[in-house]
Amino acid sequence: MPIYEFRCGDCQLQFETLVRNSSETVTCKHCSSTNLKKLISAHSVTKGSPDTACGTAPCSPAPACGSGGCCPGLN
Ligand SMILES: [Zn+2]
Repeated sequence: MPIYEFRCGDCQLQFETLVRNSSETVTCKHCSSTNLKKLISAHSVTKGSPDTACGTAPCSPAPACGSGGCCPGLN
């Protein structure tokens, strides 16, 4: 399950939460506001990481990338 990072627009709390489906309403853990800005999760982004070739020329067009061979966090 994807973990997303949010920042509350009301109290500025930044937190991570699991989102089981995209229609699920996420509320602030501190003030229960729904005025949240979704940030890019550090857990699901592997692009540019030194231990993966994903995003570089040798890997990007290759089928192995889509099959989870080099970037399991993206699919
Ligand atoms: Zn809040």
